[in-house]
Amino acid sequence: MRQNFRSTFVLVHPTEILEALVGLKDVRVLAYERLGPRVELLIEQTPRKVLCPTCSMAAHVKERPIVRYVDLPVYGAAMALAWKKHRMACVNDACPVNSWVLDDHRIAAKNCLLTTRAAKWATKQVGDGRTVSEVAKELSCDWHTVNDAVTTYGAALLEADRKRLNATTAIGLDETSFVKHNGHAHPRYATTVADVANHQIIEILPSRNYVDVAGWIESQSKDWKERIVFGALDMSATYAAVYTVMLPQAAQVVDPFHVISLANRCLDQVRRRVQVEQLGHRGRRDDPLYRVRRVLLMGEEKLDNEGSERLSALLSLGDPHGEVAIAYRVKERLRDFYRTYDLDEAKAILRELLEHCLRKAMPPEVQKLGRTIKTWFDKICNFHIARVSNGPTEALNNLIKRVKRVAFGFRNFENYRIRVLLYAGKPNWRVLGSIVVR
Ligand SMILES: [Zn+2]
Repeated sequence: MRQNFRSTFVLVHPTEILEALVGLKDVRVLAYERLGPRVELLIEQTPRKVLCPTCSMAAHVKERPIVRYVDLPVYGAAMALAWKKHRMACVNDACPVNSWVLDDHRIAAKNCLLTTRAAKWATKQVGDGRTVSEVAKELSCDWHTVNDAVTTYGAALLEADRKRLNATTAIGLDETSFVKHNGHAHPRYATTVADVANHQIIEILPSRNYVDVAGWIESQSKDWKERIVFGALDMSATYAAVYTVMLPQAAQVVDPFHVISLANRCLDQVRRRVQVEQLGHRGRRDDPLYRVRRVLLMGEEKLDNEGSERLSALLSLGDPHGEVAIAYRVKERLRDFYRTYDLDEAKAILRELLEHCLRKAMPPEVQKLGRTIKTWFDKICNFHIARVSNGPTEALNNLIKRVKRVAFGFRNFENYRIRVLLYAGKPNWRVLGSIVVR
């Protein structure tokens, strides 16, 4: 047994093992301590000749204050580095410099309570979707310690990773709400800028105002702006104006998701109104229109024979003038518009549909839908040219909602922005390794 042991292992001095754990050149381990479940290494920088930054005369170590940093766990045990820092003083009595502390960004950045490697690891973990509290628990430290480090390193990564913005030819603007963490419902709106060709969030802006969104586009390079061929949007006049002014060459494309949800909303409004007109009260469990409310919003092709018979039976009971049925057919016809692959055919369907909606005999909700379709007609049809949509942005927005749930404590917008972009912005994580925060 002893023979075997010798042949595979090289015996080393315990300090070498500890130094290997720290893994930094010119950093030496002075002591090792086990404090309950936690391991603490006392380290310092190897002494070297240091000159005063002001007068260039020699400096000497004046004090050795110890500062503690949370490090990555070792073999399952929490580890802390107790860094015996060197406070230097200039030997020149005439020099105005009093004293300064020697830093080493490889060990830890200034004002960061995690070591550099622990901070980068935590940033990646949170980018992969873990919560700050999970990561804090694994490192046996406080939530704020991890959150501050993730914010600092996340911001540095996003700043360094400029390629994120580069390749896109189609962007999407979409509004999302986020709530400040003061406990009160206080919705504020942000604008998500997505690369809809590559399904990636590229930026989050702190409002949905023209000035902020247009200003962000303005700040991009000329090359970037010229490359954008399509701009996806909901039916927002603000975003349309941003595209028209800032990216005039880009064709605007109204997102199918928003058109279909508009038709669904119209259908719902008609159903509620007819319900009250027929029965004098809002929908109750046994009312025919209430029983049919979910089926109405489903795609017609998803109904089997029994389902369609039930739908028409309940409609004939609750909708004697056929208004709900009209709104239902309009919604289904709009879905046909998206199912076709032929631009001319699509345009014909939509034109016929909007003329149908605008007829005086139509329910008022349907006429209103018709007017909206008329206003956005070309931009809705552009979907059949571009085949890009905010659909991907919608999926990304769901991710954002998850991030919101995950990150329970957003105190400010910048915090939110960093967390969303780390999670849904596909940053180039390889850049993180070379990030230096001093
Ligand atoms: Zn000096």
